[in-house]
Amino acid sequence: MSENKEKLVVITGAGGFIGGHLVSAFRARGYKAIRAVDIKPIEDWYQRFDDVENLSLDLNEKEHCELAARGANEIYNLAANMGGMGFIETHKALCMLSVLINTHMLQAAVKYKVPRYFYSSSACVYNADKQKTFEAPSLKEEDSYPAMPEDGYGWEKLFSERMCRHFREDFGLRTRMARFHNVYGPWGTWYGGREKAPAAICRKVIEAKVSGKHEIEIWGSGDQTRSFMYIDDCIKGVGLIMNSEIVEAINLGSSEAVTINQLVDITEEIAGIKLRRKYELSAPKGVNGRNSDNALIQKLLHWEPDTNLRAGMEKTYRWIYDQYLARERGDAGVVREAFTPQADAAGHA
Ligand code: NAD
Repeated sequence: MSENKEKLVVITGAGGFIGGHLVSAFRARGYKAIRAVDIKPIEDWYQRFDDVENLSLDLNEKEHCELAARGANEIYNLAANMGGMGFIETHKALCMLSVLINTHMLQAAVKYKVPRYFYSSSACVYNADKQKTFEAPSLKEEDSYPAMPEDGYGWEKLFSERMCRHFREDFGLRTRMARFHNVYGPWGTWYGGREKAPAAICRKVIEAKVSGKHEIEIWGSGDQTRSFMYIDDCIKGVGLIMNSEIVEAINLGSSEAVTINQLVDITEEIAGIKLRRKYELSAPKGVNGRNSDNALIQKLLHWEPDTNLRAGMEKTYRWIYDQYLARERGDAGVVREAFTPQADAAGHA
């Protein structure tokens, strides 16, 4: 990440999963001026830091984007309507409306002459025809065209990538873009309908363990393949890409592909139980196979996300387990804590 720690860094979507971790990482690196922005009321942010500037703004609105962008040296735009398959297959219009966020943020960045702008794209931009087999096809960056992305969410991401590119070419804004492949870890959404597979499976396994009803519902046949990137790798990759000269969208994901059934195996092993599997074939299940081809990131950055899935899932499971128990005890929703600078020494970065 840029080493000028006095200049203002703006992170949108900061009340969510990845944005919250990014704020935490910048704080840990000693950045003095951080502006965190999200549409949610501040008390609902997953992670909240009282020593940064926290703004609750609807970034669909151009004027709010201007408030967010003013004076920034770097913008990390992570705000989007986002969720797992259950959400994006049933909220296509809402997902496409995220185009307003990126459009207005880009315009605001140009207006205030912000030097650098990061856009969080997604593996959902890839052509669906290349993801029909269960053998985890490794998707290379060029596989996004000809365009046939995930309906709704994926189209918005591909269009917004394109807009970042043209803002760079036409207006000189230094845009950088990463295509995240399934990010997971503590402080992610784990219930409520927007959670993604790793968190959903952890929660279901925990529910089975706690209730004694040793059964799990799996969406689809469980043969779908995916790769999952641990949050620490995501944060590291975002920094490397933002500070690189890589101007085209690049994969940021793990290349350790597993089937959903294998992900359940891993989670059961961590929990120390074995569950009867009930396959819900009509549930949203996404493409059959998807993996991140990491040849380009290895070539350009000499690095790729490499946290072992078992190790990352172990940390995620433990965190969701604690959250689950806290909720059972009657705490409303996800446990949210306000961190003072001193309280953060435990290292949430
Ligand atoms: P998240 O849902 O936890 O965070 C997104 C945040 O954006 C939320 O807190 C939400 O309130 C905020 N937001 C939505 N609309 C807004 C608006 N109008 N104004 C201001 N804030 C708004 O999701 P995440 O997992 O942290 O994802 C961050 C980014 O990464 C998103 O752009 C997402 O599309 C992308 N991405 C994530 C994954 C993943 O696996 N988590 C994969 C691919 C891409």
